[in-house]
Order: sequence, then C-alpha cells, then structure tokens
Amino acid sequence: MRPLLRPLFRWDLARSAKSTCGPFVVYHDRGPTPYDTSIVESVTAAIAFLRRYAPRRCTRIERDMSVLWVRKATRPHYLLDQGVCVLPVSHVLAGNPSALAFTLIHEATHARVAKAGIEWRPSVESRIEHLCLKEEERFALHLERRGFDVDAIRAWIERARTTVVEHWDTNG
Ligand SMILES: [Zn+2]
Repeated sequence: MRPLLRPLFRWDLARSAKSTCGPFVVYHDRGPTPYDTSIVESVTAAIAFLRRYAPRRCTRIERDMSVLWVRKATRPHYLLDQGVCVLPVSHVLAGNPSALAFTLIHEATHARVAKAGIEWRPSVESRIEHLCLKEEERFALHLERRGFDVDAIRAWIERARTTVVEHWDTNG
C-alpha cells in the first residue's frame, strides 16, 4: 500500500493550487479566486491569532509543520510520511480563526511527536492523542487567563478525550 500512496499523494498535490501563508505552504483544491483568497486569509488569521497570544508556540508550530493541505471531504489529520497537515475546507472557511488555531496546535503536536522519532504504533496511539488534547487544553487555559471564554472549546476537548479519535494516517 505504502509505495502506491506516495506517488498518488504527489499527483494530488500537483493538481492542487499552492499558496504561501507566512512560513506555511498551503495546498488547496483549485477554485475561483475568491475561494483561494479566502483559504489564505483564514489560515493567515489563525496564524495571526496564535502569534498574538502564544508567539513561542506559534514559532514552534511553524518549525514542526510547514505544509498544510486544505481538502474538501476530510477531517483534520497529520500525514505522517509526508509531514503534511490536512485540514477540511469547511473548517478553514468557517470564519473562526481561534478554532483553526486549536486544530493547528493539535496537528502540530503530531508533527512534533513524529519529529522526536516516536514511531506510530497502535499501542501508543491513544497516548499521543491525549498529548495533543493536553496541548489544546494548555492553550485554552492560556486564553482563559487572558479573558477569553473557553467553555465551548473545553467541552469539545472533554468530549474528544472520551472518544479519542484516530487522527493519524498510517497509510499515507
Ligand atoms: Zn490527533
């Protein structure tokens, strides 16, 4: 499976539009200009949010995870082999930079774990997932101390904890 998926992935990327958002390279499905611009603007807004409220964390994310791939029907996940963060276009275009910032924090944790040489195995999957959620929780606390209402995101994190979802793409 693995040798086949890699070229397919490249082929998919080659058909995608490519933009840059600060230090990130953002691939996305081709669309009319307003659509492309909206994707770039939304990612830029999420990065600006991170940089404003957690500059050191933002720098770390940029270092660990520099390629984003915005796709139609998908869920947020990190492509381990390619080092690419995949984001659903509906989430990117939802007009909620802080929610997107939380997703970037989550997926960048996967990137950091992979960079640290921790190999993905089913036995460590839930532990890694909890680590990602812990990073989200830390950011929520950080925002709360700055006067943000984080009840909704906290509730989301708690729900995610009880249902620890598979985010890793072990084939890709
Ligand atoms: Zn995850």
